[in-house]
This record gives sequence, C-alpha cells and structure tokens, in this order.
Amino acid sequence: MLISEVVNKIKSKELSSEQLVREHIEKAKTLGKELNAFTTVIEEAIEKAREIDRKIAAGEEVGTLAGVPCTVKDVIMTEGVRTTAGSQYLKDFIAPYSATVVKKIEAEGAIIIGKTNCDPFAFGGSGENSGYGPALNPVDKSRVPGGSSSGAAAAAAAGIGLFSLGTDTGGSVREPASFVGTVGFKPTYGRNSRYGLIAMASSFDTVGIFADSVNDVAYVETILAGKDPLDATTYDHPVPDYTAAAQKSSVKGMRIGVPKEYFAEGLDDEVREKVQTAIENLKEQGAEIVDISIPLLPIGLAVYYVLVPAEISSNMARYDGVRFGPKVSEDYHENMMKGRGQFFEPEVKRRIMIGTYALSAGYADAFYKTAAKVRAKLTQQVTDAFKDVDAVVGPTAPCVAPKIGEKSDDPLAMYLMDIYTVTANLTGCPAISVKCGTNSEGLPIGFQIMTNRFEEEKLFMIAQNCTN
Ligand code: GLN
Repeated sequence: MLISEVVNKIKSKELSSEQLVREHIEKAKTLGKELNAFTTVIEEAIEKAREIDRKIAAGEEVGTLAGVPCTVKDVIMTEGVRTTAGSQYLKDFIAPYSATVVKKIEAEGAIIIGKTNCDPFAFGGSGENSGYGPALNPVDKSRVPGGSSSGAAAAAAAGIGLFSLGTDTGGSVREPASFVGTVGFKPTYGRNSRYGLIAMASSFDTVGIFADSVNDVAYVETILAGKDPLDATTYDHPVPDYTAAAQKSSVKGMRIGVPKEYFAEGLDDEVREKVQTAIENLKEQGAEIVDISIPLLPIGLAVYYVLVPAEISSNMARYDGVRFGPKVSEDYHENMMKGRGQFFEPEVKRRIMIGTYALSAGYADAFYKTAAKVRAKLTQQVTDAFKDVDAVVGPTAPCVAPKIGEKSDDPLAMYLMDIYTVTANLTGCPAISVKCGTNSEGLPIGFQIMTNRFEEEKLFMIAQNCTN
C-alpha cells in the first residue's frame, strides 16, 4: 500500500496509527534486532501515534504523513534521542535538537520508531565499519545490506517503517538500496537541508530516502525539499509536486544516455545483463537510447577518495572530547588523544589520516587542488552531456551484495563498489536506484538513473518505468 493510502486510512479512522506503530516497533525489536538494523528503537513513539489518533478523533488538522511509522539513519539528529553516528565515540550522545529534515517529517505527523545502524560517521560501503556490528541483508543474512546506510536499507527491505531517511555522500543510499532490492534516492545537492546532519563531507552530503516504490520516495521528497534558512547551501528553488511527476511516468521521446565508461571492466556479467535489459525496456517504452561518453567518469572515484577524506578530516576536528565524546582523562590533550584513539573505529582513523595528508602543506596542490580541478571538469562534462540527453543510466553498483567479511579487509575493494555512484555526488546531480532484477542466486540488482541538477521530476518519471 502506498504511504498516501495508509495516511488516508489513518485519517478516515479505518486504521489506528497506534496499532500500526506498535506493530512496526514490535518488528523492529524482533526482525530488526536479528538484522542488527537499529542502534536505538524508540518505544515512546507509541505516545506520539496515540496523539495523532486523538487529533483525528477530535477533528483537528493532521499532516500528509499523519501516523506513518518511519526510521532515521543514526547520523541525523533527533532531539532527545541518542544519536551515535554509528560510532562508539558518540555512544552516549543525546541530540540537543532535531535536523530540519526530521522536523519537516514530524511536522507532517510522521512517527520515528528507530535510529538505524550505519558505518561510523557514514564512512563505508557495507555497514561493516559500524561500531555496533554489521547490519544483515534481509534477502540473504550471510550478506551485507550495503552501506553506509546499512540499517536503513535493511529496515526498508524488511518492511520496518514505511520509509527511511538515509544520507548519501558517495552512494550510501543508492548502493544499499541496490543490494537489498528497494528504491533509494539522493536529491540534488542543496535540495534537502543538511542542518542537523552529522557532517561527513560537506560539499557532497545529501539526505536521501528509501521506500518500497518510486511513488513513496517522491511523496516524501515533496516534504523534504526546499530552502532552509539554517543551511546556506540550500537553494530557493520552487518545490514541485514530485508525486504528480512520478505518476506521469512516461519516457516517450526522452533521450536516455548510456555512457560507455559504465560498462567497462570490473562489472559483474549478470549485473551487466540485467541492466542492459532495463535499458531495452526503456527503448520499448518509447525512449531513445543514446550511446554517450563522459571521459572523466572512470577517475571520479579517485577524485572522490581525495576530496572526501580531506573534507572529513576537517569535519572530524570538532571531536575533541570536550564538546563531544567520552571523557577519559582530566588533561585536555590526553583526553582528546585517548578518546579518539580508543573510540574512533579504524575506518574513521584511516579517513582522517588520508585527508590530513591530502591537505598538508607541500601536498595540498598535488592532491587536493588537482582533485578539485578534476571535479570541476567532470561536472562540466556531465553538464554538457545533459545538453544532449535527459538522463544518464547504468548499473548502481558493479556487483551484488557481498558476503559479510568478503571485502572488509580490503579498503580498496570496498571503495571500488562506489565507482558508479560517486558521479552524482561529485557533480551535485540527483540520482535514484531501482531494482531491475535478480541474479541467478536471487540477489537484487540495482539500476541507476541520474538527471541534471533540479530535475528530480524527470528522474521520478523515468524511474517509475524501470522498477521490476
Ligand atoms: N561508500 C562511500 C564512502 O565510503 C559512500 C559513503 C556515503 O555516501 N556516506 O565514502
């Protein structure tokens, strides 16, 4: 059932929000626990659901998400609720205020039933870097659900909450969506507020959405999008009704670009085959398929893994053991060093070291500045491509969900899984992953669609035709 239909049922008293929220909390505590999808389950959510039911009974106004249970990634602040960022360093951190995206969904009556597990500070692609243990893939529990929004993807695919907010800095919504077989969307950079999001790489971070259908994602995005006075990087751009766009769902006459660079070495054969079938389907529905080339695509990953750690290393400077973090010593310096040494997970340290190196005197020109220049060139090439085509499509990830432990000892192999997703973050474009089939073992395969900045409507229209 679509989220909008559930809301209508709650509003017409056919369904009680309290009962629905109770069921989802129960599921979070049983199946969610088995999948290690949550860092915190919020049982008090039942009170909020009861309040929605009361308002409806009293004939008071309720919003477009009235009484709908949902989940939020643990890097997004929720006032009064523990927000760990998936790191032991913040294991006791209670968020003093809520992120704008949280306020927006709550203002519409959404009920947050839990905070989802993730890689620490969103650094990772499988969920295995989490300070709370890996989340498991509901399709096959011996496999990862992808990352860094691992718990969000696991919860969404397991039907815990009707939608889930995640974050996508280099693919952390789309890649896990592809591994669990659900829909995962990242908006244009600056479309959704980052206020109250624990920063990873500030010029890349976006808040995205997981849900069962393109319709549901579009429905929630209509609520999230818009200018936020508390985030100077958001744009004062009109917010269309994305749900209406998703329902139009026609690709007739659209030009769909297929970059040859997306189909080079390293792509799993079964993934290639299913993605090609998805492209054929678009053609059958009246889209024109255009072979294109974006020459800088293959080095996007290298650029990403210089610039992102650089921004990370600056953002992580705030964890000094005074403002945030555990107190392990009375001495300021010792407290800072011991706290970080003891409680930052290995991947957190790795990123800080790489980033600090890339920014250090003598190396900043060779690494950081060069990468920043290539990012600008790639953005130009992608912008040019969109003069000719409406969308760029291809695989979301080069493989299906790996087994737990399969790549966790090899950071480079892990980073390679982001090869197709980082482009959208480097260039600020919106992108979505939808399931386009399964491989011979029944594991989901994701199909990625990217459009030009602020062309979410077109993105949803196309995506609607690709779900399988
Ligand atoms: N896997 C990517 C990384 O580890 C993406 C992370 C993200 O989008 N948060 O950097």
